[in-house]
Amino acid sequence: MKSHKVNESINKQWNFHPKLPVGFYPIFDWPPSPKRLMNFIWTYWLQKSDRTILLLISFFTYFLLFPPLKEMSNLEINWISMIALRNYILIFIVAGGLHWWFFLRKGQGSRFQYDTNKRNNKSKIFTFNDHVYDNIFWTLVFGVPIWIFYETLILWSFGSGKIEVFKFSDGWIWFCLFFPLLQIWQSFHFYCYHRILHIPFFYKIAHSVHHRNVNPGPWSGYSMHPIEQTIYISSVLIHLIVPSHPLHVLYHLYWLVLGTVSTHAGYENIWIKNKNILNVGSFFHHLHHRYFNCNFGNPEIPFDKWFGSYNDGSHGKN
Ligand SMILES: [Zn+2]
Ligand SMILES: [Zn+2]
Repeated sequence: MKSHKVNESINKQWNFHPKLPVGFYPIFDWPPSPKRLMNFIWTYWLQKSDRTILLLISFFTYFLLFPPLKEMSNLEINWISMIALRNYILIFIVAGGLHWWFFLRKGQGSRFQYDTNKRNNKSKIFTFNDHVYDNIFWTLVFGVPIWIFYETLILWSFGSGKIEVFKFSDGWIWFCLFFPLLQIWQSFHFYCYHRILHIPFFYKIAHSVHHRNVNPGPWSGYSMHPIEQTIYISSVLIHLIVPSHPLHVLYHLYWLVLGTVSTHAGYENIWIKNKNILNVGSFFHHLHHRYFNCNFGNPEIPFDKWFGSYNDGSHGKN
């Protein structure tokens, strides 16, 4: 068994890495550890985190930028174009904002940046021979329309009464619990399809687009082939089966799209005036981009541990 002592050469391979081994969240720890679990809930769900910020954006959208559900009973251009506009603005703010801060303004230099190796800016493997233009192209031209399509489909299903809205007053425990459960569902969905896309045939036709990013940045997160984007976002189809509310749908979609932008940031956190403003990156997934045959899931469910593809970052390539 590998020891958990960090190999000295590892420190030379990264500009920054979080404390190693990079682990999983304690949800599936066995034996269960109530203390670690409470600490996880406190840190990720009750304080400033990517999750709570996306939750706030979902509430903001729902209460301020959301037409009455009955207006969505028919597929009409006015409300669908509002979704489209909203989503394009959101991706520009989140991906554009992070990219601007880290790579254009160079707001914190290389502080907390995982990998300072050149991001292959000019290379023939990229569309337009440019890493960032490539990522922006696949995100905006295919990714956002696919996001709009799924959002329209689910909201129209609510609006037209094809599926029932589960309200807060119908059961607040389920209403609240469904947010973290969605996260676990998404993790399961992601691991399953991601493993399949690593089969050489599917890799070649679809997943290779995302893996052009050996050293990802914010625009890399949702830069995928449209086949992959369609499968990736399909995790929201669960709302057609399991009772939920439009707020759950918004959160789920924001997590899928804006969350992946954040976890691919290439930086562990946003650091302003000697203060950690927000944790953004995922070193766990960054290892997948560099080493390729490891960490197919995410830290929510320890699939990689169970099925032997876990790389905890302390020993380089598996
Ligand atoms: Zn992959
Ligand atoms: Zn990725």
